[in-house]
Amino acid sequence: MVHETDYYDLLGVSPTASPDELKKAYRKLALKYHPDKNPSEGERFKLISQAYEVLSDPQKRELYDQGGEQAIKEGGMSGGSPMDIFNMFFGGGGRMQRERRGKNVVHQLGVTLEEMYLGSTRKLGLQKNVICEKCEGYGGKKGALEKCSSCKGKGVQIKVQQIGPGMIQQIQSMCSDCQGQGEKFNSKDRCKNCHGHKVERKKKILEVHIDKGMKDGQKITFHGEGDQEPGLEPGDVIIVLDQKEHPVFQRQEDNLIMKMKIKLAEALCGFKKTVLTLDNRPLIINSAPGEVIKHGDIKCVQNEGMPLYKEPYEKGQLIIHFEVEFPEKHWLPEHLMYQLERLLPPRDDVMITDDMEEVELCEVDVQSQQKSHSREAYEEDEDSPRGGVQCQTQ
Ligand SMILES: [Zn+2]
Ligand SMILES: [Zn+2]
Repeated sequence: MVHETDYYDLLGVSPTASPDELKKAYRKLALKYHPDKNPSEGERFKLISQAYEVLSDPQKRELYDQGGEQAIKEGGMSGGSPMDIFNMFFGGGGRMQRERRGKNVVHQLGVTLEEMYLGSTRKLGLQKNVICEKCEGYGGKKGALEKCSSCKGKGVQIKVQQIGPGMIQQIQSMCSDCQGQGEKFNSKDRCKNCHGHKVERKKKILEVHIDKGMKDGQKITFHGEGDQEPGLEPGDVIIVLDQKEHPVFQRQEDNLIMKMKIKLAEALCGFKKTVLTLDNRPLIINSAPGEVIKHGDIKCVQNEGMPLYKEPYEKGQLIIHFEVEFPEKHWLPEHLMYQLERLLPPRDDVMITDDMEEVELCEVDVQSQQKSHSREAYEEDEDSPRGGVQCQTQ
């Protein structure tokens, strides 16, 4: 039984979530609350990353399910920094690599199922820092760099503050005049284009090619398209595809799944129904007379699922879940029941004797039924000794 669900709640998933559901939940939230996009939500970002780190590891997840956050802490299992977890997930490269390179930038791109089926090209406008063209990233007139007078070239400023009688505190902070460089241009030598910042903000249009069969969460990397910074190799722009819900089809790997409602007459006597594919071809789904389809039956059409990535001539299956709609009560006048029954498979005979009691069949109040069920389960768990298997491993 799951005792604590905080980590699941943070990711907005149920404690029974599959690894894929966890991944998707983390992906969405991590991008939403990433400090680059949402600086005020740093704490939230940290918590989400922590939760994901634990729940994505089967061993840690089991430990958490049994003993909550406490168990994770006691087990010395908490670790990675939120950024490391993020970079690992989105492919930000190792720490060594990152020191010589600028940051990777991750963007999510909402994509329809149709686009993933047909393939498409999307244009994405991004703002990014590029090396200033005028000064070539130098920041001003060559050779005109002077030692910063505010910090005497140290790049830091030290402030002394009295915090109590006879107590002083030294606060060291980056020199704001030279941005910690220790050197700066005086105003007449400073580059007029970038104001000495060495880089300028420019709009860049990226063409994102969505290939047939690409999947939700798939990454498309634009190498070296991240922010430019003098002396650093620019990082990558990583586009993460986020598939939008489709009103008819759900995707499961390369298969498409849909529900199809059929009438009782169709279930028993056969039918023809149409389905519009993602590339707008009407398919006729055919069930021959006599081929009974039951409520809950699952059938498939070969080669009408999603195209396979990199093998788009191959396709998965279209899987149809049938729901049989029964007629409402009293749809048939009582005097016709006999005729209907004659056509249906015969019913079983039941022997009624005098010692039997006839009882009334009522509707069930589903909600109150569920409540009492969950209460029972809870009480049972409290009373019984703790799960046998867990005890034996001790
Ligand atoms: Zn300075
Ligand atoms: Zn410049």
